[in-house]
Amino acid sequence: MRLVVDLNKCQGYAQCAFLAPDVFALHGEEALLYDPRAAEEQRERLARAVAACPVQAITADGLDGAGGATAEAGQGESGGR
Ligand code: SF4
Repeated sequence: MRLVVDLNKCQGYAQCAFLAPDVFALHGEEALLYDPRAAEEQRERLARAVAACPVQAITADGLDGAGGATAEAGQGESGGR
């Protein structure tokens, strides 16, 4: 799964790092590091992190229905599998 964090929006609240520590890590007060290709097993945690981010800075592909708060463009674009 691919994800992107808009670091211009991110305020370093660390909700994501708390909810999906294998995907997000906060270094210091403001520097958010994340894995842009999260493992499939992280889907549920990632969905929670997306939903919990106070500024909606996290965008993830292929999170359909898991969190309910993600992008509208879930269907049609990726004709993958
Ligand atoms: S929850 Fe959102 S604002 Fe907080 S560190 Fe993660 S991406 Fe940034």
